[in-house]
Amino acid sequence: MRLNSVRTHVVLIINVIIMASMPVMGQVDDSELINSYWLTDRIFIVGCGEMNMDMIAAVNTEKGIVIIDSGNSPSLTAKYKAIIEKEFGRSDFKYLINTHSHGDHIRGNQVFKDAEIIAHKNTLKNLKKEENVNEEEIKAYVKQTRVQIEQRNLIKKTLDKDSGLYKQLRARTYIDRNKCDDYESVFQLTLPTITFTDNLTLDMGNMEIELFYFGSGFHTEGDIIISIPAENIVFTGDILEKADHQYSYGVNSESDFDPWISSLDKILQNNNDIENIVTMHYGILPGVLLSDFHNTLKNMRDDQQQKTSAVDSLSAMIASSNVQEAVNKFEHQFPKNRQMEYFVWAGDLNSLAREYQGKEKYDEAQIILKMWEKRFPNSTAVLYSQVSIFMEVGKTESALKSLKKLLRMNPSSCWAAEKIYQLENDN
Ligand SMILES: [Zn+2]
Repeated sequence: MRLNSVRTHVVLIINVIIMASMPVMGQVDDSELINSYWLTDRIFIVGCGEMNMDMIAAVNTEKGIVIIDSGNSPSLTAKYKAIIEKEFGRSDFKYLINTHSHGDHIRGNQVFKDAEIIAHKNTLKNLKKEENVNEEEIKAYVKQTRVQIEQRNLIKKTLDKDSGLYKQLRARTYIDRNKCDDYESVFQLTLPTITFTDNLTLDMGNMEIELFYFGSGFHTEGDIIISIPAENIVFTGDILEKADHQYSYGVNSESDFDPWISSLDKILQNNNDIENIVTMHYGILPGVLLSDFHNTLKNMRDDQQQKTSAVDSLSAMIASSNVQEAVNKFEHQFPKNRQMEYFVWAGDLNSLAREYQGKEKYDEAQIILKMWEKRFPNSTAVLYSQVSIFMEVGKTESALKSLKKLLRMNPSSCWAAEKIYQLENDN
């Protein structure tokens, strides 16, 4: 099976002088960005900004406090921990569960190092690789992030303080500044102490906490979903993160849907009255979305088994002529009324475009992207791919056009705002 494509981040070198961030008299204290609330009688959420950038959950159980994910930075997470202790009137942290290995879910692990830290065995494997990251790489990452912070401060000056984008940039800056400061001082990679393979149930006295491995190839190799039937809640980490392009990046016609579907089978069987889904980057979603997601995956698997990927046919056509001719022929031969025989997935078009990009065949990649945009006009995923390719070949104007469209579709996208700023100020 082909390895699924990972979002390529294009790193721009920018000519900005890094200035130490100095406290300014009268500046608002960004710690006011931290907020918290009870989601249910026993589940407490604490995080920063709009809660979609840095967030942890605390479960109040008979046998101790269970924390889910540990955030971006140890110093912020230490503040969250103090809030939880005060709110709960106790400090017996029993378990910390990491939903997967991405930095924004594990960097605060050290704050709970006295508790057992639980994760999927592949998450531990991924994190062990990070033990080998050398100091120079971390220094370069911190330096680049600090440049980004300065740049965000300049963008913020051009914005209305009430705008969604301003608020996003402010929170992002606060989190990243803590992250950088921590990397230079207190940060210590802290690994899980308990791992599992398929599922694990924690008996917490007054409730059970069920951990299910979701399967590989969707987001990371070690994603888990945590279900608490007594609270009608599931925590999906970043599985339900990707909004409209959720099925575009990792998922294509070569994906193995069975493990994902069977883990959702088990979760929905044990917890069939889910009210809330806690996601890291999209906040709290209505429970019904998990069964929608389950159905979507089942429908995609059915298509995969019963129909043919039209993009495979396109690849075959391309092999025997040039890309533009093949696309023209394809558009002519595969109009929408042939959907009984064929399926066209954005993820396949993305993989094909990325394949050309990898081989530096940029014209071909752009033809595929144009076709993708025509078929899925409301997809932001195609715009991310366009930006990546346009920037790689130095087509600044085209990249800006895609970025501005992206910002119109998602007005609080820090990523798009920052890239626009870089491109407009780079020369
Ligand atoms: Zn993630």
